Amino acid sequence: MSFILLTKAGKRTGFPYLLSRAFSQRSERSSRPSFGIAFDIDGVVLLGSSPVGGSPGALRKLYDADGRLKIPYVFLTNGGGFPEAKRAFELSQSLGINVSPYQVLQGHSPFKQLVKRFENELIVAVGKGEPAAVMSEYGFKYVLSIDEYASCFENIDPLAPYKTWKIKLAATQNANFNESIHKNDVFSKRVQAAFVVSDPVDWSRDIQVLCDILKTGGLPGRNVGPQPHIYFANDDLEYQTKFPSERLGMGAFRIALESIFNRIHSHSLEYTCFGKPHPSVFKNAEIVLQKLVRSLYDDFYDINDNDPPYFKRLYMIGDNPAVDIKGSRQTGHPWFSILTRTGVFKGKENHDKFPADLVVDTVEEAVDYILAKESAS
Ligand SMILES: [Mg+2]
Repeated sequence: MSFILLTKAGKRTGFPYLLSRAFSQRSERSSRPSFGIAFDIDGVVLLGSSPVGGSPGALRKLYDADGRLKIPYVFLTNGGGFPEAKRAFELSQSLGINVSPYQVLQGHSPFKQLVKRFENELIVAVGKGEPAAVMSEYGFKYVLSIDEYASCFENIDPLAPYKTWKIKLAATQNANFNESIHKNDVFSKRVQAAFVVSDPVDWSRDIQVLCDILKTGGLPGRNVGPQPHIYFANDDLEYQTKFPSERLGMGAFRIALESIFNRIHSHSLEYTCFGKPHPSVFKNAEIVLQKLVRSLYDDFYDINDNDPPYFKRLYMIGDNPAVDIKGSRQTGHPWFSILTRTGVFKGKENHDKFPADLVVDTVEEAVDYILAKESAS
């Protein structure tokens, strides 16, 4: 799978100008960085929406006194639900730093790779936040959120009358949503793919409607048809919020959907999951970090695409052994895994099944370790 995010031409219009302020003093540097850092978000830098583990202070150490980035880093999260630019803005606000959208790699970011295949097809986007806005921004032209899609069908959710909440069809999700136009389309056009962009909100309705789409070949209420594809942004069974114990994640939803679909359909569910721990996610992060450094240095150094890999070491700081640490270990060199105790993992010693290269209490401790180690080497 290819994850090239920006072309050479794109680099000229994308990275340099967004980051130019952050990286403007090229001439002061004697050598380009030989290391980079990938931060998980939930349970490492944030718990819910609040900073954790001294994260604002830890991240500020990666900038110089004028707020320019010194150390290349990205956020590498399986979470999502909002476009990368919005997430970058929110992270900047919560952490008091200047985060570029190019530094935010979310579980659903690889969905961009599927634009060519489904660009003009009817697709459905599922999950909290603004799943349809995310997909529209990636270039999918005909995307409806599952809220919008379900609203076109009367009686599709038999439990709707018992649900005390109201579903708001947010204008921000899809400015082009027009119920009367889409009602005609959804009864005649097959849904070609479903994308679970972020954690689903109304599991009972979403499982019902997805089973309808997947069983009928994309036309709910009709006969059985070939299964449209379904893509999941991650397969995390659990994740950490402010609640004392872990919460069920997208992987739990996938298990529920798959179990039910396989009971009501003669063929097993076919699906694709993205996100950590897949090594492709870590390899993509390395490419993005290289581009980040290149946007800084390629006027200064003569770097070309055939150069050997940049980084002697890349650090993954995560809280979930089965996701962050397993993925980093599977990818191998140059990744070095650091496990924090502020999220899913709370053990005293290392994790037994997926041991990290280093275990620390907080992200701040992890950053201090990295900076000390790198300045000594
Ligand atoms: Mg996490």
